[in-house]
Amino acid sequence: MRLYFKDVSMPQIPRYRTLDRHLRAAFGEKVQKITLDAGSTCPNRDGTIGTSGCTFCNAEGSGPGTGLGSLRDQWDRWRARYAAMPRLRRTRLFLGYIQSFTNTYGPASRLAAMLKELAALPGLVGACIGTRPDCLDEEKMALMADVPWTEFWLDTGVQTLNDATLVRIRRGHSARDAENALLLAHRFRVKTCVHLMAGLPGESVDDFLHTVRALAALPFAGIKIHNLYFPEGTAVDAERRRGIIVPLSREDYALAAARALTLIPSSVVVHRLCADPAPGELAAPDWAADKRATLDLIHAVLSYNDWWQGKACDCPDANPFA
Ligand code: SF4
Repeated sequence: MRLYFKDVSMPQIPRYRTLDRHLRAAFGEKVQKITLDAGSTCPNRDGTIGTSGCTFCNAEGSGPGTGLGSLRDQWDRWRARYAAMPRLRRTRLFLGYIQSFTNTYGPASRLAAMLKELAALPGLVGACIGTRPDCLDEEKMALMADVPWTEFWLDTGVQTLNDATLVRIRRGHSARDAENALLLAHRFRVKTCVHLMAGLPGESVDDFLHTVRALAALPFAGIKIHNLYFPEGTAVDAERRRGIIVPLSREDYALAAARALTLIPSSVVVHRLCADPAPGELAAPDWAADKRATLDLIHAVLSYNDWWQGKACDCPDANPFA
């Protein structure tokens, strides 16, 4: 087997456009994300599309479900927590990230109220709203196009552009829905951050890279990639326990992520390359609990092969992230 990395202990400068680097360039200082819970639900949970949800979805709607109380209550608790941490106590600027469930589901008036509540949070300089592609329309896009922050991101769960896989993981929407959502957001100049997973049931790494290539032809401004991990009690974990699905190894995932980065335009902001399991929920693979080690390996693969984001796409000649 060909070696794709040499020494993971060597410090590596990320060869891609990290969110941290992007935000520091925009604001001149550190910006910290705060994850919030807006008490949303999902059409794939409430019976509108389905009741069981996507096969990988945890009880908290694929988020940490941190939220008790209003967005302001949650915000104040997180800021107090960060103020007590030596690494973050001088941080003044924050992004509000409404992650769990489908936050553009329901009437546009609900989204309008959410955006208004976000706008009143002290120190907030931008926001990310998590959703699925079939819960968007022109009225909601117009609201999001009108927010007062340059850093507003519509986090859109695409997962894969393979319709057979979408059926198998019970997403309840098609690849065409995802394409239409990205085109609609682009028309309204709303920045989308696309969420993809490697190692989905029935998909090889080549299948994953096929999705990345198809995605690269669509308009989007940010990306999150991670391996499929298996939360306790989920349908996908039941399949793993029966031997129907085998998790990717860290090495295979690192190589898949590094190759994906070469296919993604160099202007795209990389929000995440690792899964972030909530405490206690991870059944497998064990390695998904150590994000630092996974990132180090991705950086080592990129460096050893002299790859960078966009090298096989729009930026073949020199590493712009050196
Ligand atoms: S769309 Fe999101 S919240 Fe809804 S079931 Fe799927 S992963 Fe869970």
